[in-house]
Amino acid sequence: MTFQSLGLSEPVLKALEQKNYGAPTPIQSQAIPTLLDGRDLLGIAQTGTGKTAAFMLPSIDRLVAANRPPMPGSCRMLVLAPTRELASQIADSARAYARFARLSVACVFGGTPIGRNRRAMQPGVDILVATPGRLMDLIDQRIVRLDGLDIFVLDEADQMLDLGFIHTLKRIVRLLPKKRQSLFFSATMPKSIRELADAFLTNPAEVSV
Ligand code: AMP
Repeated sequence: MTFQSLGLSEPVLKALEQKNYGAPTPIQSQAIPTLLDGRDLLGIAQTGTGKTAAFMLPSIDRLVAANRPPMPGSCRMLVLAPTRELASQIADSARAYARFARLSVACVFGGTPIGRNRRAMQPGVDILVATPGRLMDLIDQRIVRLDGLDIFVLDEADQMLDLGFIHTLKRIVRLLPKKRQSLFFSATMPKSIRELADAFLTNPAEVSV
């Protein structure tokens, strides 16, 4: 299996070459074709499996193909992560993978000045990585709006619930457009998480690694 055979485009393949990745990991070879088709995805996978590239690479391709600039204060893809550390890691990966695709990436999380987030969001961004609490603050302050979004990713759902983000999450999801591609990842899938996933996803493909 090669990244090329999964149907990824030239700018993304070029970025992977720079990263010196050999073959796709199992979650990548299972998830990428499905996501390129625009389907929703339920992924049961831990960090370290190559999960970030599995959702970022096909999403970058779809954003490039749609070729639509973001609206001011908006993003085209939103990735929610439970912690600042994870959010920054995802944003760093996104920047590396999107290097030749000319997409903008912003990362927002608590404990940093809101003014910086305001300046980053003002023109709009292609990919926004956020922690739920700070995102909700930015929405309440009318700095971010989610109505123009195409792709929504919830990463580490089980950790989100453990950290008490359930109500914030539900508020955020109510603000998303109905017509969107949704991706939901969790390391574990107890009944409570599966019910949450069912509420977010439409006819999802399921991948477990
Ligand atoms: P993740 O599970 O997304 O946190 O990724 C774990 C680590 O694996 C990261 O450091 C990635 O850069 C790396 N990685 C992801 N996909 C591949 C791949 N196909 N080949 C080699 N390394 C990879």
